[in-house]
Formats: sequence, C-alpha cells, structure tokens
Amino acid sequence: METLKMLKGYELHERIGSGGFGVVYRAYQTTVGREVAIKIILPHYANHPDFIRRFETEAQFIARLEHPYIVPLYDYWRDPEGAYLVMRWLRGGSLRELLAQGALEPDTAARLLDQIAAALDLAHRHNVVHRDLKPANILLDEDGNGYLSDFGIAKDVGDSQSGVTGTDMIIGSPDYLAPEQARSDPVTPQTDIYSLGVMLYEMLAGAHPFPDKTPVERMYQHLNTPLPAITALPDDLRDDLNAIIQKATAKNPAHRYSSTLEMAGAVREVLLAVTQSGGTQVEQLTLREQEILQLIAGGCSNQEIAQRLFVTVATVKWHVWQMYRKLRVRSRVQAIARAREMDLMLPTAAMPADVLTDATLIVQPEPENPYKGLRAFQTADARDFFGREKLVQRLVKRLSDPKQGRFLAVVGPSGSGKSSAVRAGLIPALWRGDIPGSGR
Ligand code: ATP
Repeated sequence: METLKMLKGYELHERIGSGGFGVVYRAYQTTVGREVAIKIILPHYANHPDFIRRFETEAQFIARLEHPYIVPLYDYWRDPEGAYLVMRWLRGGSLRELLAQGALEPDTAARLLDQIAAALDLAHRHNVVHRDLKPANILLDEDGNGYLSDFGIAKDVGDSQSGVTGTDMIIGSPDYLAPEQARSDPVTPQTDIYSLGVMLYEMLAGAHPFPDKTPVERMYQHLNTPLPAITALPDDLRDDLNAIIQKATAKNPAHRYSSTLEMAGAVREVLLAVTQSGGTQVEQLTLREQEILQLIAGGCSNQEIAQRLFVTVATVKWHVWQMYRKLRVRSRVQAIARAREMDLMLPTAAMPADVLTDATLIVQPEPENPYKGLRAFQTADARDFFGREKLVQRLVKRLSDPKQGRFLAVVGPSGSGKSSAVRAGLIPALWRGDIPGSGR
C-alpha cells in the first residue's frame, strides 16, 4: 500500500508543479474531506529573516482577501522545514497553458479580464499590489473561470546566498514587467494594470508582444518600446481594443487607467457597441442572478440583498456585475428594463421611484470598516490602529532600555486591548526599526 506523507492534517499527494520559490502538491484535508493545493516554500527562502518578518502579516492579508475570483488561502504556517500555504485546488490548469493553444475569442478574453480585474480591484482597495501578474498566475476552474493566485508572499525574499535583500530585488516576470518595476521605482495599482494590459494583448493575439527576446531584452522593450498593434482582430474591434492596450501599457503610470475596473469596463463597452449594432443573443442569467434582479426591481439595496440571501455585499456586487455584463447594461434601471424586454422577470414586479433615479454603477468600491468588533487588531491591521501611540511608545522605550532586560509582560484586564496593542502597535513599531536594529 502506498504510504502518504501527512502534514498537519493534510495527506500529501502528487506534485502539481514548481515555481521559483517552492513546490506545489495536490493534497487532501482529512478533517474536512476536501482536496486542496499546498505550496511548500523552500527553507532556503522560508528561513530568510526578511521572509520570516513578513510572512505572517502578508499571509494574514491574503487570507482575508475574500473574492469569488481570488484563489482562497485556507491556511498557512511556517516551520524550520519551510513555509506552507494551503489553497483551493484549481483543476483547470493555468491561463499560460490555455494560451499555449492560441488566441482567445474577444468575449472569452473579456470575461477573464472582468474576473481578474474585479479580483485585483479588491486587492488594490486593501493596498495590496500583486506585482507579478502573468498568465501562470491566473488559475482556471473546470468552467474556464479565471482566479488570481500567487500574491507576493514569497517574492520579497532576497537570495540569502548572494546577500541580496528584498529592497534591491526586482519582483515580477520580465515578460510582464512594468517600466517602473524595471527601474525599481515604487509600485502602485497602475503597475498591475500594465501587466494586465500585456496579458490582454497576449489573450487577444495568442502571442507575447515582444516575442523571441531574451528576458533582459524584453525588460528594455517594456521600458522603451510601445506594444505593437494587434492586426488579427475583427475590423470593428481592432482599433478600440488596441487603443485600450496602449492606454493600459503607457510607459508613464499616470497615463494608464485609474483602476482595473475602468480598464475592464472599457473593453466591455467596445464589445457592447459592436453587439448592439449587430444585435446578438444574451447569455443566460443564473438562478441567483435572477433572484437578485427581482430584489433590485423590488427596490432593495445591495446591503439588503446580502442580508436576505445570507451572502456578503461583495458577493452581491459580483453577481450584479455579472448580470450587467450578460444583459449588456450599466445601471439598475437599464438592467430592469432589459430584463423586462427579454421576459426574464415576473411581470408584476414593481419598479419603485428610487430605483429609477439610481443609475449608480455597482463597481464603486465599498468603504472599508476599520473597526474590528470583538476581534483583536492583528499586525496586518496596523494602519487602522489609532489612539494608543503613548502606550506603544512606553512599550518600545521599556524594550529599548538595556538595564531592563529583554522580557516584557503586558498585563491588563480582559478586553482592555493587550493583544491589539502588542500586535498592531508594538510589533509594527519594532519592524519599522523604532529600536535600532529591531527591523531585523
Ligand atoms: P513563481 O512562483 O516563480 O512565480 P509559478 O507561479 O509558475 O512561479 P507556483 O505558484 O509555485 O509557480 O506554481 C507551480 C505550479 O503549481 C504551477 O503549474 C501552477 O499552475 C500550479 N498551482 C499553483 N497553485 C495551484 C492551485 N491552487 N491549484 C492548482 N494548481 C496550482
């Protein structure tokens, strides 16, 4: 009988593949009875001080990025043998494998772009820039939906052998590298938009814009050469889609789209204009979308719909976005009118006055709630942690006094905020280097 390696409650099966930082295995989580993918980051990287310093916080961030098109991170831990990331197992391979078969239909490319743009938008709203967007990092399910994977958890790690540290390293594949990354300038959401533009090119053209080059040559092309125009596109789409790719990949980040959703919306508009003039069939709405459409027609807000259907507001928004896409509309009013035209709704559903005036696009970001309720603030929440500056200063001062020794106990009544002060105040202060050398 085959002996399987057990790892913290997971049966390790075959190796799915490997990347620059580790190896990915298919695994089985015995307690829950589900198949998962486990990425094991090699000890060479996982034991590097920079990695250790960032792993917990970054993994925490990513695990909290809940979005239908972000590969969920179920669990993570680190030990001397390496670092472990347990993710949903995506069974459809990656976009890289799909593109090896050639260009995608514009509609398919636009659908994948919608999905990845929505996922990236969520990350950007949480101040997370992916930095390594490439077709290998877009995983697919059995239905060909795209999921964003491989956030930079392992990527800031320097090569401990060469002594190069994270800050000196260029992160990202040279094939999709934005000019500012090549120059080691600060990255912003526009950095991801550049890589997304290169990927859109590749999805529509079936080939990289700068083929047959060495990685270094490609990097120089990204710095200096505009992407060529794709010629093999339908006449009525060619100019507009090329213009979108040019805007997304402008060498100056300020000239790119302001958000990934704006870029995906531009592609949708081009396709919509063509289908409206040609009048083609509309994709079928799912049951859940029809249900949401009825609630919208009944005057419910996204928040109310979320409460009624026991889902998050982000999920409702996602369905609404999909519905808009399928109906080729941009507002609630248009969606209701269109669904009526096409007999997708109960004829009795009333359309209240407030819906008529509400032409808000659903893609507007939700404000973040900085309050954690009863949950303690974590290190990843440091930017929302206010009002304890004096206490944190006292803790830092106490730790920096060599006469007092290294041990510091924080004692206080239950619920007084001890964990939060340490995790979201003291630890980030030490990582900032508030005590000389404490950054390491
Ligand atoms: P790098 O990490 O150097 O950027 P990469 O993205 O190719 O390279 P990994 O992320 O380590 O490498 O992935 C290695 C292989 O495992 C790839 O073929 C990828 O498609 C596959 N893989 C990664 N995560 C999953 C997952 N959650 N489900 C299914 N396959 C996965």
